[in-house]
Amino acid sequence: MVLNRPARALALAALIMWFFFLYTIFTPSTPAPKKVPAKKTANDHLSFPPGEDPMLADFDEPAGILHRTGPEYAPDAQNSARINATLLSLVRNSELNDMLRSMRDLESTWNHKFNYPWMFFNDEEFSQEFKQKTQAETKAKCSYHVVPPEHWDIPSWINEDLYQESAKILAENKVQYADQKSYHQMCRWNSGMFYKHPALQDFQYYWRVEPKVHFFCDIDYDVFRFMRDHNKTYGFTINLFDDPKTVPTLWPETTRFMAAHPEYIHPNNAQGWLTDAEHWPEHTQDANGYSTCHFWSNFEIADMTFWRSKVYEDYFNHLDRAGGFFYERWGDAPVHSVALGLFEDKNRIHWFRDIGYQHIPFFNCPKRGKCKGCVAGRFTDGESWLNDNDCRPLWFKYAHMD
Ligand code: GDP
Ligand code: MN
Repeated sequence: MVLNRPARALALAALIMWFFFLYTIFTPSTPAPKKVPAKKTANDHLSFPPGEDPMLADFDEPAGILHRTGPEYAPDAQNSARINATLLSLVRNSELNDMLRSMRDLESTWNHKFNYPWMFFNDEEFSQEFKQKTQAETKAKCSYHVVPPEHWDIPSWINEDLYQESAKILAENKVQYADQKSYHQMCRWNSGMFYKHPALQDFQYYWRVEPKVHFFCDIDYDVFRFMRDHNKTYGFTINLFDDPKTVPTLWPETTRFMAAHPEYIHPNNAQGWLTDAEHWPEHTQDANGYSTCHFWSNFEIADMTFWRSKVYEDYFNHLDRAGGFFYERWGDAPVHSVALGLFEDKNRIHWFRDIGYQHIPFFNCPKRGKCKGCVAGRFTDGESWLNDNDCRPLWFKYAHMD
C-alpha cells in the first residue's frame, strides 16, 4: 500500500501516540506525593491530651498476685520453683564500666532480692577483668559466652559492594550507624539469632540489659513470674517512632510475607499501631506504610518461645533473605515490634510502667513512691524536639494501657 504524504504523516502520528499509550500503561508510575498536613507546632500531633499522661497518675504495681520472697530466690537455688530466666547482655569489653553501672542499678532495685543469673554475650572473648568485675557486682551467677561466627558473620547472600554502596548513601542521609558494619550485625543478632545460642537453650525468659542504662525504682516482685502468671510474651517500657530512613522496605517486605502467610496474623493483633497514618503522616509515608512505632528494645523482658516459634522463624528468614539488615539499617526494635504487633495477641504485651528506666536520651519515669533520681512524667532530658519521638499515645490508642 502506498500512502500519500499527509496520510504518511497521520500514520506516523498515530504510531507515536500508540507507543506513548503503551508506555504510560506499562511503566510503573511514581505516585503523586500525598498531601501531608503541616505540623502546627513540635509534637502537637503526639502529646497526650491535658491530664491524660498516664505517667503523671499515681501507680505502684500491677494488680494480681505478685511473688516477692521464697527459697527459690537464693543465689544458689537450682531446681525449685524458680522461673527459667536470665538477665542477658550483649556487650563489648570496652563497655565494662558502663555495664557495671547498669548492673549496680538493677541489682540494687531488683535483682538482689531474686538473684537471677547474668549471661554476657560478645562476638569475642571477654577479658579476665570484665569477668572479675562483673561477677563482683552480684551474688548471682555470671556466665560469659562468645557468639558463634555463624550467628554473627554477614550472611553469604549479602553482596559486599552493594552493602558498601548502600551504607554510603544511608550515611550521607544521616542515618545513624549506617556505615558501622558491626552495628548491622548486632541488629541482626538481636533480631533473629540471640535466642539460638546454645547457652540459652534451657532458658525461656530473659531481661535484656544494655551498658549505661539506669533503673530508678524499687521493684519488689519477681517480674519473670509476673510474665508467666499473667501469660505475657513481651514487656517494654518505652515506645518510640523510628527514623523512617532506616526501614524503607521493612513494611513492604512484611506485607509480602503476610500475603504469603495470612494464617500467621493473630486475630487480636495490633496492626493499627503499626500502620497508623494520622499521628505522624510524614513518617508513615516515608516508611511506606509503617508508622515506625516500636518498643525500644534496649529494654526487653520477654518469653523466647515467641522468637523460637515457626511463625517468627519464617518471618525472620524472609527479612534476612531480603537483605535489609545490611542494605538498609533495620533495627531489632522495629523487627521485633512488627512481629509482635502482627503475630502475637496484643493482650500478651505488657507495659512495665512501674519500672523506672533510662537509656539516653529517653526515660520511663512513673509517679511512684519507690523511685529515686528521675522526674515523674519526664520523657527526655534532651532537646525538646525529642518529645516528638514518643509513640506511647499510639500504643494506648490501638492496644491498651494494662
Ligand atoms: P544504641 O543503643 O542503638 O545506640 O547501640 P549500642 O551501641 O548501645 O549497642 C546496642 C547493644 O549492643 C549494646 O549492649 C552494645 O554493647 C552491644 N553491641 C553493639 N555492637 C556490638 C559489637 O560489635 N560487639 C559486642 N560484643 N556488642 C555490641
Ligand atoms: Mn545502647
